[in-house]
Amino acid sequence: NLGGPVLSLVGGTTSLQQGLGALTRIEEVRQMETETDVDETPARPVGPPPRVTLEHVTFAYAGRTGTLDDVSLTAPAGGVTALVGPSGSGKTTVFSLLQRFYDLDSGRILLDGTDIATLSRAEVRRRIAYVEQDTPMLAGTLRENLLYAAPDATGEEVDRVLRDTLLDALVARLPEGLDTHVGTRGLALSGGERQRLAIARALLRRPQVLLLDEATAHLDGLSETALRQTVERAAEHCTVVLIAHRLSTVTSADHMVLLSGGRVRDHGRHGELLDRDDLYRDLAATQLTATGA
Ligand code: ADP
Ligand code: MG
Repeated sequence: NLGGPVLSLVGGTTSLQQGLGALTRIEEVRQMETETDVDETPARPVGPPPRVTLEHVTFAYAGRTGTLDDVSLTAPAGGVTALVGPSGSGKTTVFSLLQRFYDLDSGRILLDGTDIATLSRAEVRRRIAYVEQDTPMLAGTLRENLLYAAPDATGEEVDRVLRDTLLDALVARLPEGLDTHVGTRGLALSGGERQRLAIARALLRRPQVLLLDEATAHLDGLSETALRQTVERAAEHCTVVLIAHRLSTVTSADHMVLLSGGRVRDHGRHGELLDRDDLYRDLAATQLTATGA
């Protein structure tokens, strides 16, 4: 017990313990019903960033057909790979399969030479961190928000991720620094700051691979630049695969994969796809707006 401070999850009052339980449950709901090897152990380094490869991956949700149809793609080691595609094209499903939430119908997913089907789900989660679009935040302190998944991270590691996510200046301005309360009755963080805090939290677990579903909410120009720099710095430590909703993200990505109807329609750099692909041109003009899609 924490000796009495009542913390709250955004939207309701609860103890930190209950809050953490709720976050864990949110995680669990996302996982397969058959999963038994839930492991709370924080990630620790298990080697340099791997190349992430999907080889002829075919998958359908129960009772459906053809959610992903013979999808092959490669995310270069230590690079930034952006997944783009219309709503329903299979981007989130690729992320779910990368986390082994479901088994493939056929094909393989490899981290360098290792088929993730040969790793326990706990091991997969040690290596791969996922930052979702709207990350639940504990209305505790900034420190608690950072450390709940990496309680043994050192002060130096915390300082480094704060620099890498461009949150160091914000923290330095706060009289109580990392002990500042955030959430409903504390410091109000902007959407961009919340997303960078979520990335900082994920990076503290020292994953080999970072999966990021970009926020779709409006970010101002400065926040957008900060997010792009954060992603670039994250790629110095891990392989980044992101679901892109912003033009500024895809233009700076090393590699882009365009999904459509559960298939890989094209891949390359933003400029190349813009030149040769109608669907991409369309997406870039409508969905991938400067303010998010
Ligand atoms: P995207 O992230 O590109 O919008 P998704 O991967 O979420 O696409 O969805 C791909 C397809 O799979 C869609 O047709 C969607 O309706 C379907 N789908 C997504 N999640 C589930 C699920 N849990 N069960 C059944 N069908 C799903
Ligand atoms: Mg999605």
